[in-house]
Amino acid sequence: MPTIKNNLFFLRNKINELETKYSRTPGSVKLLAVSKNQSVAKIKEAIACGQTVFGESYWQEASSKIDALKEEKIEWHFIGSIQRNKTKHIAENFNWVQSVDNILIAKRLSEQRSNTLGHLNICLQVNIGEEKTKSGILPEELLVTAKQCAGLPRITLRGLMSIPKPTSDFFEQRKQFHLLKELYDSLCNNGFSLDTLSMGMSDDIEASIAEGSTLVRIGTAIFGERA
Ligand SMILES: *Cc1c(COP(=O)(O)O)cnc(C)c1O
Repeated sequence: MPTIKNNLFFLRNKINELETKYSRTPGSVKLLAVSKNQSVAKIKEAIACGQTVFGESYWQEASSKIDALKEEKIEWHFIGSIQRNKTKHIAENFNWVQSVDNILIAKRLSEQRSNTLGHLNICLQVNIGEEKTKSGILPEELLVTAKQCAGLPRITLRGLMSIPKPTSDFFEQRKQFHLLKELYDSLCNNGFSLDTLSMGMSDDIEASIAEGSTLVRIGTAIFGERA
């Protein structure tokens, strides 16, 4: 009977094994537990197993959970699509926003981040497959957007995030992650000091770690099917 405890144990071992297999620094890949559509009770179970980093996709849903868990030491990541009228809530309640996909949203997050909180950490979401229906910044627009973000006072650009085209082909998965890693490296070569490459989910975790992911985002493989 898989439990959250067993699932987390299994995943942490798997991440360690993959770090070794692909000559990555031990401990360089963080696990983000994606708790969207999962209960507060389940999140508490994960916290009891030492998990501290959680991701949510919808402000409405996240709001009551963040409130219910405010005594816990949690690093909250927003990973969903961002509506303009929710930026204030997101800026004030999350530690990270991984899904910034245009400069107007970045500006609003910076303006609305309270002075009493530290900088808001952000990642730019990249539309790596240049899919018309997907959100994310196109690769050719990334450098300009990153430069514009660098001028904003209350956010810190930490890295890139992508949700690539789903495929079960390992080499195809690697190819897409490799593109994101190249964009990441090119920003670093342009003077940005980044430390976060958020890529990899349950079905492509190995390919993502092989290509340099520093943060994998896992939901159902920790908590089970979503409600
Ligand atoms: C839901 C979600 C995940 C996790 O998906 P699972 O299939 O539950 O592991 C990861 N990243 C993003 C951006 C998501 O929205």
